[in-house]
Amino acid sequence: MIRMYGVTKIYKNGVKALDNINLHIRKGEFVFLVGPSGAGKSTLTKLVFREELPSKGQVLFNGKNVARLRGRDIPMLRRKIGMVFQDFRLLPRKTVFENVAFALEVTGVSPREIRRRVPQVLQMVGLEKKGQFLPAQLSGGEQQRVGIARAIVNDPVLIIADEPTGNLDPETSWELMELFQRINEKGTTIIMATHAWDIVDAMKKRVVALSAGRIVRDEESGGYRDEA
Ligand code: ADP
Ligand code: ADP
Repeated sequence: MIRMYGVTKIYKNGVKALDNINLHIRKGEFVFLVGPSGAGKSTLTKLVFREELPSKGQVLFNGKNVARLRGRDIPMLRRKIGMVFQDFRLLPRKTVFENVAFALEVTGVSPREIRRRVPQVLQMVGLEKKGQFLPAQLSGGEQQRVGIARAIVNDPVLIIADEPTGNLDPETSWELMELFQRINEKGTTIIMATHAWDIVDAMKKRVVALSAGRIVRDEESGGYRDEA
């Protein structure tokens, strides 16, 4: 699904955020991206979403060079990817239902289809009774469930989550991980940048560790820290 060949990213200020990354992620994988702050995790995910372009090398999404996409191919790519953020990024004046519906409206889905699909995903994330609440009326964990509902409502092939539990307590974090796990079991690929070492250690998924812009470890069912 995703291939990176010799990808280097140097920002305008001269910072080399990624240094010769080679990476292959297959459909259906659950990949934890770990490493200290500044290691390049966010930059790597931004290259997949085409929020940033590589300075060198290639990023392929389903065989297509992301940098060469033009015009309407870019929204088409982004529609295949659901993003989940540490700070949720919900629209504060819209209800839970409207936040999720908005993700469908912008892709031109009919009102009838929206009325059908939004309750389905709210059910999936356990918020079927909270559709008319505003984000501020929800706990942090519930707000992130809205973020996840919004990410999955377009039926993406990939979910990119950037420290999705960074603002949540351990118990809530675990509940959300179970939700991500269920989404992954339905076939959606997940790439998750995280510092939640206990969760990474327990879930035994693929771990790609970055340090100073390089991949320093890539293990099937790995842990947060190097064993050696
Ligand atoms: P991580 O997600 O692992 O914390 P980032 O990808 O955010 O790492 O950052 C990698 C490096 O790139 C850091 O040194 C960071 O300061 C720098 N960086 C990130 N975004 C930008 C930007 N837009 N402009 C300049 N430097 C950036
Ligand atoms: P947590 O302890 O997980 O942070 P909260 O105490 O924030 O949870 O919320 C507990 C429950 O009360 C949640 O289901 C939330 O939706 C509801 N709730 C919180 N604040 C409000 C509010 N201002 N109006 C209505 N319901 C609320």
